[in-house]
Amino acid sequence: MATQPQRRSGNTPQGRAPQRRKKKTKLNYLNIAIALIICCMVIATVLICLLVGCDDEGAQESIAESSTTASESGKDESSAVSNPPESSAPEQSSQAESSQIPLDPTEAYEQYIGVEYMVDMTDYEQYVCPENESEFVFVVNPKHPLGSDYVPPNLVKCTYFRETQPASWSKMDATANKALEAFLQEAAYYGFDDITVTSAYRSYNSQASIYQRYFDNDIKQDYVCDTCSEYFDISYFPEKVVKEKRCNACFGVCTEVDGEKFCESCMSVADEAVIAVCAKCKNAVRRPTEAETEAHVLTYSTKPGTSEHQSGLCCDMHNLSNSTSAFDNTPEALWLAANAHRFGFILRYPPNTQHITGIKHESWHFRYVGRTAATEMYEKGLTLDEYCEG
Ligand SMILES: [Zn+2]
Ligand SMILES: [Zn+2]
Ligand SMILES: [Zn+2]
Repeated sequence: MATQPQRRSGNTPQGRAPQRRKKKTKLNYLNIAIALIICCMVIATVLICLLVGCDDEGAQESIAESSTTASESGKDESSAVSNPPESSAPEQSSQAESSQIPLDPTEAYEQYIGVEYMVDMTDYEQYVCPENESEFVFVVNPKHPLGSDYVPPNLVKCTYFRETQPASWSKMDATANKALEAFLQEAAYYGFDDITVTSAYRSYNSQASIYQRYFDNDIKQDYVCDTCSEYFDISYFPEKVVKEKRCNACFGVCTEVDGEKFCESCMSVADEAVIAVCAKCKNAVRRPTEAETEAHVLTYSTKPGTSEHQSGLCCDMHNLSNSTSAFDNTPEALWLAANAHRFGFILRYPPNTQHITGIKHESWHFRYVGRTAATEMYEKGLTLDEYCEG
């Protein structure tokens, strides 16, 4: 057996062996070359991946940085905006970041939002868009109350306060007040020059007496229709309840028979009395219970500690004698709602959000949160409750 290989090798024609070897080496060279090419391709791919990866991280870092402070995000947008109008692709903006001279944040914001400030923002930018903006973004409601002894640290006299209102409602957070100055100067430029603040900061005790006043007033004059399952706030909707002469015993409708009143329910002659009747169903209405009135008052007012007014960051403002739904859809109300975010404010209780905020639409109540958060909420259609919880 041991000889076989020898014999084979011996039998092999000499001329063929080298040829075979040559072929083998040729194949080897080819394999090595292919391997080298593959190696090069792999290395090149890895290098490209690494480079692209670095770029992405860089972009992410710059986005993270730009979102940490409002002024930086302003710079960020300024570079995007300083390109030709069509070049709004995010890639271009991030590429331009390093090479372009950052514009003033105000201009960057103007470009982003597509509206120019008419008021000179030089002195107001730091208040509309402060560095500690996140400190202003929090919810005050029954779930997130303020303590009875909480008083905001930086209260000043509100510049646009209506002097006929109680002086104890005239204070406002200093930053919010400056931002409001810019806001209402801008409003004046557009012709809405008679908007004043009727209530800004309210203390815990002040809110307690306001709430009690609303409650006492409503329980005295409001009605409930059990047939319609409706609570009628007579201050706002006096027309929902009408006074009619009815049977004094059963409130049934009486008709005149031979000069006498005849109750169609009692089927007998009846005494008539003036009673309150639901204008819709014509059934007698009743006074609400304390629980019913409390539930109702809480749709437009708040118990002490749960009012946003205690934060010093909001205000009621309009050009009417009272804060009522009469302000809704006025040119003033519409302008304020559409421009509040440009000055760091939000319409705190927008229409159709009572199921989220717990409070009915208040076209006069604006809350300061700073421009970045305000703009985001405005663009996404979010309430402060949703913004803070989401
Ligand atoms: Zn009757
Ligand atoms: Zn009714
Ligand atoms: Zn208010």
